[in-house]
Amino acid sequence: MEYSKLFKMPTPMKITGRSSSITNSFVNSIIPNIKPEEEEIKQALDILGMTPDTYQCAYCGSQASEWDHLRPLVEGKMPTGYISEIRNLVPCCGKCNQSKGNKAWTDWITSSADLSPKTRGIQDIEDRIKRLTEYENWGSPVRVNIEEIVGSALWKQHWANCERIQSMMRESQVLAEEINQIIKKAYKD
Ligand SMILES: [Zn+2]
Repeated sequence: MEYSKLFKMPTPMKITGRSSSITNSFVNSIIPNIKPEEEEIKQALDILGMTPDTYQCAYCGSQASEWDHLRPLVEGKMPTGYISEIRNLVPCCGKCNQSKGNKAWTDWITSSADLSPKTRGIQDIEDRIKRLTEYENWGSPVRVNIEEIVGSALWKQHWANCERIQSMMRESQVLAEEINQIIKKAYKD
């Protein structure tokens, strides 16, 4: 047994590595949450072939811990216009939610992305795809033209704020790298 095989260095973190979370938060923070009626929740689970007793992650069948946006809220760093309402939400586990990110579910579910259902060897993916496709065809989810609703002044201001933070993060990363090198050198000497 080689001891070096047991060791794994924590992944180095970059300030700019958080940039897509910032963009997501600029979209998520303006998206309304519409609470479903009891009957709609029942309908949703019916379509997914679940009862309260078999309630599970729609993508992989693990224990569900949250409801995930089936259609992504963010695409190309901009909002798609979908909001948080039950017709665009399915029960989901933490692993799937983390793995799927802003990808289209149809591409992701059979992709070799880290922790995707395919990667984890989930057996009944085809059945799940069928159910999820039915779910996608359940009514029409709201898709709002946010810019039109809020007006271009507020809209531009919001994205200018986002860009300010991103640009500050890029600057901060440059300085962080410089500091990192100084500490590394001091440690070696
Ligand atoms: Zn899952």
